[in-house]
Amino acid sequence: MMRSLVLSMLLTLLPATAAAQQPTIAERYQPIAREIIAAALGDSSAYNRLGAMVDWFGPRLSGSDALEHAITWMASEMQRTGLQNVHTEPVMVPHWVRGEESVELMAPRRRRLPMLGLGGSVGTPAGGITAKVLVVSSFDDLRAHAAAAKGRIVVFDVPFTSYGATVQYRVNGAVAAARAGAVASLVRSVTPYSLATPHTGNMHYNDSVPKIPHAAITVEDAEMLARMQARGDTAIVHLTMHAKTLPDAPSRNVMGELVGTERPDEVVVLGGHTDSWDVGQGAMDDGGGVVVAWEAVALLKRMGLRPRRTIRVVGWVNEENGERGAEAYHERHHDELSRTVLAIESDAGVFRPEASASPDRIPPLPSSGKSAGSSSRSGRASSHAGVAAPTLPRSAPTGFP
Ligand SMILES: [Zn+2]
Repeated sequence: MMRSLVLSMLLTLLPATAAAQQPTIAERYQPIAREIIAAALGDSSAYNRLGAMVDWFGPRLSGSDALEHAITWMASEMQRTGLQNVHTEPVMVPHWVRGEESVELMAPRRRRLPMLGLGGSVGTPAGGITAKVLVVSSFDDLRAHAAAAKGRIVVFDVPFTSYGATVQYRVNGAVAAARAGAVASLVRSVTPYSLATPHTGNMHYNDSVPKIPHAAITVEDAEMLARMQARGDTAIVHLTMHAKTLPDAPSRNVMGELVGTERPDEVVVLGGHTDSWDVGQGAMDDGGGVVVAWEAVALLKRMGLRPRRTIRVVGWVNEENGERGAEAYHERHHDELSRTVLAIESDAGVFRPEASASPDRIPPLPSSGKSAGSSSRSGRASSHAGVAAPTLPRSAPTGFP
């Protein structure tokens, strides 16, 4: 899977370096593309790197030491493996810390409910909040029962339809509940599947209403509370959250390049985000994403291939709870945007690749009279990062993997 993702990234790069003249792009680049495919499929560097990242550094929330150690490691690995212009660029990031937290059902029976505070939430007062529950099934349902929400803990029991639709309750639920006079809000985790697993994520406040604590509970418990309300039970919940937001902390975007041979000032940017939520390892979101982008470029380097335009891999910081890394990159590289011919972020999970690029839309380079496979090729690296060098078959694979 990881190999396929590296491959997907590599194939995305190819049209950006191709001339839209006869012979066709496919004809010109097929031989070298097949070599790259074979190399990617025979190379486990991406998987090994991701394993090292999550095992050594673990969760990488903005403001954490673990994130900074991971970024330093990435820069040093990029440097060690021969990427060019490796450096970091400073970014100030939000620094939210979760602290101790719990939800306990007090009535009609006592039971701890698995929960996760949502990123950016305020905490509860020291003794927590104890209140009756009002379960609603939508924002409209909340508005229809607004009079009953005052002083309650509102529970948004909204079944998953799509991420974009359902995540609205996680992002905006606290504001809607506070507007109705609630003292806290709980949201059914944004997921179609659950094994009593609460999901964290980001949320927003609005200065026009009080900031109330906001947390996720499991699908199962949201449904339980809805059943209790439907049969006329009075559900009472005790919520404790020690979450707090500290002053912004210094962090960094990290990047390295393969400098182009013909148009070094033109840039193809690809990457993912280095930060992750604090309660997992950030393997899928977005360790895998940033590693496949990184390894796509690293593999070209190991194969001794040089692109015609510069390819820059970037690990953006603070995607999860602020996007400050992306904003800082945009600000710092603003004068370069007209020369940025393609930009890709891998942050949709490392699944089987799906391609949707249209080479016709990519501005062509003038013909150089030589193929990418023959330009500036300096031989293959013999070893890398404890991973055996890719062995390239003499005969091309027959099918697309
Ligand atoms: Zn992500």
